[in-house]
Amino acid sequence: MKPRVLQHGRLMASLERALAEHFDVHPLWQEADPKAFLRAHGGEFTGLATSARFGADRALMEAMPRLAVIANFGVGIDTIDLEAARERGVAVSNTPDVLTDCVADLALGLVIDVARRLSAADRFVRRGDWPKGQFPLATRVWGKKLGIVGLGRIGAAIARRAGGFDMPVRYHSRRLVENSPYEYEASVTALASWADFLVVACAGGAATRHLVSREVIEALGAGGYLVNISRGSVVDEAALVEALQAGRIAGAALDVFEDEPNVPPVLFALDNVVLLPHIASATHETRQAMADCVLANLRSWFDSGRLVTPVP
Ligand code: NAP
Repeated sequence: MKPRVLQHGRLMASLERALAEHFDVHPLWQEADPKAFLRAHGGEFTGLATSARFGADRALMEAMPRLAVIANFGVGIDTIDLEAARERGVAVSNTPDVLTDCVADLALGLVIDVARRLSAADRFVRRGDWPKGQFPLATRVWGKKLGIVGLGRIGAAIARRAGGFDMPVRYHSRRLVENSPYEYEASVTALASWADFLVVACAGGAATRHLVSREVIEALGAGGYLVNISRGSVVDEAALVEALQAGRIAGAALDVFEDEPNVPPVLFALDNVVLLPHIASATHETRQAMADCVLANLRSWFDSGRLVTPVP
């Protein structure tokens, strides 16, 4: 008998196929009335496969009384109610490390894009504006000060890449990172005051909601750029939009938003803003490695009762 695993939301096709080989998988997303299905069958499942987008809230866990393990496709676990999982003794895994370098690559890509105005220059050429005149000058990247909010796995990989551009790096997180070569700033506001580029790479969730506040955005100032590859919830998006419209910061490059996939339409008109549809980990190689990690966690759990990459 294969263990019964409930699948919450669509996953990569290759992962769906691999899960079906090893488990008796039921796609909750195909149910016309998921609540009614859970009332009738929730007690049959011991595993849940989900993603950072769909997560697992308390109500879902309550509807699955035999649930023992949740495997999340993604490193961010802000959409999983960890407290509810702990109360029920449900083990949770995520996909750390395998996505770190691709996300850091994208962060540096955004720094370069927003400063050197790559996307804006591309639009300029496509519009047929080049024969009419020169594209305006942009801002230098190398040697500029890079502030990182959250020097975790991804933040540290961003810092290493910034070294290749001779950028001095400072960071803020709740704790000072021992033996780090980078200088610590005790507040995000102090980090923003110092930085030319403020790159947000911390965890999402309630504890970091609007950590990049109106005050932080003001501290970044008219010459500063904000880059966010973390979670939309970390930035006060309304304050950011206001600051961009008023020219109180130089620009922003955003992979994540408060209400995805909805992006504030006023941003579409601003040429100093780079907008991406949450693609920081979205390469063939990294997404496959994440899929392998989800499968490895579920297989290991059902074989040995241990996860490969447990969320602490
Ligand atoms: P990680 O190694 O756990 O790093 C998280 C960092 O956030 C740590 O430095 C942590 O430091 C800091 N942090 C947590 N709470 C904080 C708070 N309240 N104030 C200040 N700093 C805080 O995680 P990771 O693997 O680098 O991933 C980071 C995040 O990137 C994920 O949680 C996810 O949301 C996001 N992500 C986005 C994409 C995308 O597609 N855009 C892809 C992958 C990941 P302290 O604990 O010392 O505070």
